[in-house]
Amino acid sequence: MPPSAVIVVDLFQRHNSSGWRHGLSRRPPAACYDLGMAFPVHRPRRLRRTELLRSFVRETRLSPESFVYPLFVCPGTGVKQEISAMPGNYRFSVDRVIEECREAAGLGIPAVLLFGLPESKDEAGSGAYDDDGIVQRAARAIKREVPGLMVITDVCLCEYTSHGHCGRIADGDVDNDSTLELIARTAVSQARAGADIVAPSDMMDGRVAAIRSALDAAGLANIPILSYAAKYASVFYGPFREAADSAPQFGDRRSYQMDPANQREAMREVALDIEEGADMVMIKPAMPYLDVICRVRQQFNVPVAAYQVSGEFSMIVAAARLGWLDGTRAMMESLVAIRRAGADLILTYFAKQAAKLL
Ligand SMILES: [Zn+2]
Repeated sequence: MPPSAVIVVDLFQRHNSSGWRHGLSRRPPAACYDLGMAFPVHRPRRLRRTELLRSFVRETRLSPESFVYPLFVCPGTGVKQEISAMPGNYRFSVDRVIEECREAAGLGIPAVLLFGLPESKDEAGSGAYDDDGIVQRAARAIKREVPGLMVITDVCLCEYTSHGHCGRIADGDVDNDSTLELIARTAVSQARAGADIVAPSDMMDGRVAAIRSALDAAGLANIPILSYAAKYASVFYGPFREAADSAPQFGDRRSYQMDPANQREAMREVALDIEEGADMVMIKPAMPYLDVICRVRQQFNVPVAAYQVSGEFSMIVAAARLGWLDGTRAMMESLVAIRRAGADLILTYFAKQAAKLL
């Protein structure tokens, strides 16, 4: 008798001497059946024998349809400048971003996410809500030239403020309530320029409600909000700061972005954003926060996005360059893991590369 069967008998005896005999339950618990039918009846390797079988029973599939491709737009013409800490990613001028968008759309990627590098920065980040700002110009051009591609705009001030923080500064910290108006103005200005979806990343309290009411008042009630609901104060944003020139000039963002140690707080942030009108929610970064993605997916019934951030991307690319990892496999495994955790949408710098393999 195999050892597992011994355990089954033992469980039967214990249950028979208590609950079942008194009619509390007529059936042994499922665990007993599982133990009773273990090896050699069950052989999970049967379904792993060939690629055809493995693919037949695969639980999670990737598709370019769930990718969002982040892009950086900068002033000038003819600019396509590689970001050194993010190989294969570029700062594009508006004219050059069009060709990148065409290529992404051709690969079946439905949306790009735009970040802007303005001509100049100031205390209040006015470049963010300038109707002729860099993201607004890019959004108009992309919608005109590549109408089949959705434009999502990052709604934040940090790329546009001289101090690099995501809002107005008062007493050495970002002032929440006076920032809301600027954030809402930015979203309206971007939506007017053609953004299909606005995505606030600032982490100010109440910004989703402020944006929703400003959009509605501007006759833009049909523009959805994808909120960066659980955005952690993460070291993995490092390479992005070079890309978007958005490193804070003093202090850090821990008074508004979340503590990496907290999961329950993410549930609260997501619940508040949905209550305020978020149509979709995002967790950022992705791979170090798979538990958060999983729990948000289980607890809330809105589309869940996860942002595989610059550091996640650059680590894989760097290890591959050193010959320490198979870069292509690491890319696909990281993406499938994010999807398996529950992300419906994945924002990733690998979007084009992965789409080519799917
Ligand atoms: Zn920001």
